[in-house]
Amino acid sequence: SNYSVINNPIADNLVDHFPLCMQHLYQNLCENHHLKHYARIQFNLFLKGIGLTVEESLAFWKKSFSKVDEDKFQRDYAYNIRHNYGVEGKRQDYKPLNCMSLITKHRPNSGEIHGCPFREFSQPNLKAKLVQMGVRNDEHIREILNLAEEEHYQVACTKYFEITKGLLDKNNDSIIIETIEHPNEYLNASVLLEK
Ligand code: SF4
Repeated sequence: SNYSVINNPIADNLVDHFPLCMQHLYQNLCENHHLKHYARIQFNLFLKGIGLTVEESLAFWKKSFSKVDEDKFQRDYAYNIRHNYGVEGKRQDYKPLNCMSLITKHRPNSGEIHGCPFREFSQPNLKAKLVQMGVRNDEHIREILNLAEEEHYQVACTKYFEITKGLLDKNNDSIIIETIEHPNEYLNASVLLEK
């Protein structure tokens, strides 16, 4: 990966296994040392799903928000991070968000980058992102763009998974994954492929 590591023994090795939505958030976090509210919730719950403890998660965000001083971090961010883990407020143990929820709820306003890129990106931006992530075959790019345009966002993500993992080239009939339903499912399927 071109980006600085999460600096957590669990997550460090997993960046390359992130689905596009989380790659996008993580790249922005590394570049800007900040994420807005819904992006933080999306990524924090994803890290929770990977297995980071609340302490590990707080350490990760503290390090990532490197331009924010300790007082501001505690005041503006730490509470919500702990809240996602159910150790504040109503003590509800929030689950990592699934694709349907990321696609349909709290759609990003301009200036926000959370949600599902297959839904939220313009076609030119999605194409540029696919190329950046290593999808170079024109037919593959067109296939993914068409699925996104037809509003089959999770199928587009699944196709992206198959293409970037080289599953199509192998002429492999065995279906690894039906349709991506959850970012953490994407990550787990990607990790399994490496084994
Ligand atoms: Fe993320 Fe799900 Fe969208 Fe894939 S389909 S990019 S896992 S929200």
